[in-house]
Amino acid sequence: MCQEKDASVLLIYTGGTIGMIQNPDTGALESFNFDHLQKHVPELKRFNSRIETYQFTPPIDSSDMEPKLWAKLVKIISDNYEKYDGFVVLHGTDTMAYTASALSFMLENLNKPVIFTGSQLPIGVLRTDGKENLITAIEIASAKRTDGTPMVPEVAIFFQHNLLRGNRTTKTNAENFNAFNSFNYPVLAHAGIHINYDLDHIRKPDSSRVLKPHYLFDTNVIVLSLFPGIQEKTIANVLRIPDLKAVVMRTYGSGNAPQKEWLVRMLKEATERGLVVVNISQCMSGAVEMRRYGTGIHLAEAGVISGYDGTVESAITKLMFLLGHGLPPDKVRYRMNNCLAGEITKEKYLL
Ligand code: ASP
Repeated sequence: MCQEKDASVLLIYTGGTIGMIQNPDTGALESFNFDHLQKHVPELKRFNSRIETYQFTPPIDSSDMEPKLWAKLVKIISDNYEKYDGFVVLHGTDTMAYTASALSFMLENLNKPVIFTGSQLPIGVLRTDGKENLITAIEIASAKRTDGTPMVPEVAIFFQHNLLRGNRTTKTNAENFNAFNSFNYPVLAHAGIHINYDLDHIRKPDSSRVLKPHYLFDTNVIVLSLFPGIQEKTIANVLRIPDLKAVVMRTYGSGNAPQKEWLVRMLKEATERGLVVVNISQCMSGAVEMRRYGTGIHLAEAGVISGYDGTVESAITKLMFLLGHGLPPDKVRYRMNNCLAGEITKEKYLL
């Protein structure tokens, strides 16, 4: 394995802390002009790769990210797909896991690296984590195998030493440099003195297929988190939201919910009229297994489908993606229960 000398990378700056500097007069964080990136990261000149940049104007705080901006990113990547060996997306950390999940579904047949990164401290700050994240992300996006194919042909997030599958990742820390975790899927690469890739867990796409970009989303979805004491009227109102098509229901443990008669009845009635209800555990690690306890079986019987070991970020973006393509409820349920881009591990678990 070696790193190609003349790789080319498109660095796309969407916004977020990494591209900010501190205004010396006010102390406030402000976005800097990305054309001046070399000034802040002179190390970029030392890369053997050709690095070109594209900047969102204005830069977007990731709390303002939305499907039309995901589509913009997909368009940039697909328009430039043949020109570059890999893509690095600089993105705010807050919703990075949602964008990475969405892109993993939107970029069908992807066989080049799309590496997301960002930072907790702006690149203009002395102790910034941004420089190392940026430099290693570029290295990963440029890396090739001995046969010349990309080392990481998938959407991934690089953050503080670890490369994680995008649609398996969750932001778990607002303070530490180690801000992201992938609880149910192994780290794809670890950057120490060397970058050690776990080739067994990196996706193996069919390189004969051509990239098929997708742009459509339906945002008539909701995440509903259960809690002890949740009221009948709350559930009733959520399930009756006009035009609502799908719910990610965050349950307890291995996919359990209160055994209230009204809850099962309402869920059954909602799934029968076409609402797709996906069960995702509030636990970060482990999976939904609805047939394990009585408190889960009744959900399965009410038509709730398993989200297996997927993240909320991937379940909600996958639902929006599938519904955006006009699939009927049964087809959406079927696709939710089958892996599209490495987002769930189905084999290990029961329904
Ligand atoms: N609020 C910022 C964002 O997500 C935080 C960050 O970049 O880390 O855009």
